[in-house]
Parts: sequence; C-alpha cells; structure tokens
Amino acid sequence: MNLEFFAQMLELDNLKSKILTHQSQIQSNSNRVSTVEKFRVQSAEELTRLKKNLEDTHHHFLQQEKELHKVEQLLTRSSERQSQASTSQECAAVEQEMKLFSAQKDKLENELFDVLETEEKLKKSINEKTQFLEGSEKSLLQIKDEVIALNNKEEDEIKKIQERMQLYINELSPTGKSIWTDLCKRFPKENAITFLQNGTCQNCRSHVGRNLESQIEKGTIIEHCSQCKRLLSPLKRV
Ligand SMILES: [Zn+2]
Repeated sequence: MNLEFFAQMLELDNLKSKILTHQSQIQSNSNRVSTVEKFRVQSAEELTRLKKNLEDTHHHFLQQEKELHKVEQLLTRSSERQSQASTSQECAAVEQEMKLFSAQKDKLENELFDVLETEEKLKKSINEKTQFLEGSEKSLLQIKDEVIALNNKEEDEIKKIQERMQLYINELSPTGKSIWTDLCKRFPKENAITFLQNGTCQNCRSHVGRNLESQIEKGTIIEHCSQCKRLLSPLKRV
C-alpha cells in the first residue's frame, strides 16, 4: 500500500461525510412537516374535546333555565296566594315560602350567569383552535412544497457525490475496494478513518505501540484501531 491509497480512502470518507450531512438535512427538513402535522393533530383533538365540553355545558344551561322557570312560577303563585291570604298566620307562611323561592331564584340566576360565562370562554377557545387549524392547513401545504423542493436539491447533491465516490472506488485495487466496503458496512453513519497523534487514536484515544506507530505513519501497513476499529491513516484529514 502507498500514500495514494490512503489519500483515496480519505477522499471517500470525506465524501461519505458530505452525504451524511445532506441526509441529516433531509431529515431535519422532513421534521418540519411532521412537527406541524403533530401539532395539528393535537389541536384537532383539543377542538373535539372543547366542542363536547360546550355541548355538555349548554345542556346544563338548559336544565338550569328550566329550573329557574319553575321557581319563577312558584314565586308567582305564592305572590297570588299572598294577596288572597286572610289570616296573619297564612300571611307569614306565604312570606316564608316566598323568601325560600326568592333565594332559590337568586342562586339559579347566579349559576346561569356562571354557565354563560363558561360557554363564552369555550366558544372563544373553539374559535381560536378552528382558526389555527384553518391557517395551519395552508401553511402545512406551503411547508410540504418547500420541503419537497429542498429535499430534491439535497438528493441531487447526494447523487453527484455518489457519482464522484464511484469514480474513486473504480480506481481502487480489489483489496482497496474490499477494505472500503468493510469500512462502509461497519460505519454506515460515521467517519471510518482515524489518525494517530503521539501514538494515540484521534477518535477513541487508544494507544498504539511505537513500532506499529512508525509503520502506520509511513503508510506501509494497513492497520485498524484495535478499539474503535477505524482505519488508521498516515494522512491527516484536511
Ligand atoms: Zn480508535
């Protein structure tokens, strides 16, 4: 082996790195879409919950309203009886009854007011969620178009790099090809080449013996780091 072999390996490893960067950009572009989609699903679920809540609240309101109507009728009847009461005892009894109904009426009116307030708040939230869902539907379509265009560009770049890599691979000897194939299998998502600095692997800090270090530095031996298994190159990454 000679230094030319290591130069080719290093170039291949650098190109592979570039591909990984483009792939990670594709992933991050696609994440933009999935983030908005996830948020929209959450909002749609929330909207369903709010609508159910409003329905229940309104049902409660109608019940309370009926109750109020009944109490008002009772109060009217008591008031009629009051005007017809002949004894002071009767008068006092009717008065007592009216006090009770009035208190019930006040309580129901207050409750109805609270229920109305709750309804208003729910309607406001429903409105906001609906607007968000409508607005974000348009943005989502825009983002999807943008992401498709951006990812197509990234894919084009990857294709160009792969073509360049193929040229380098074609120039390799059968042994070189087999070394590169093994490295790619072992490190599909990382750099596969490392260097020595003062006898230490720059990737995992594992030490190499003096004798071996000298052979690696001269490029006369193909050696992998005993710990991280990367190819030890005499040439440094630029
Ligand atoms: Zn190592």
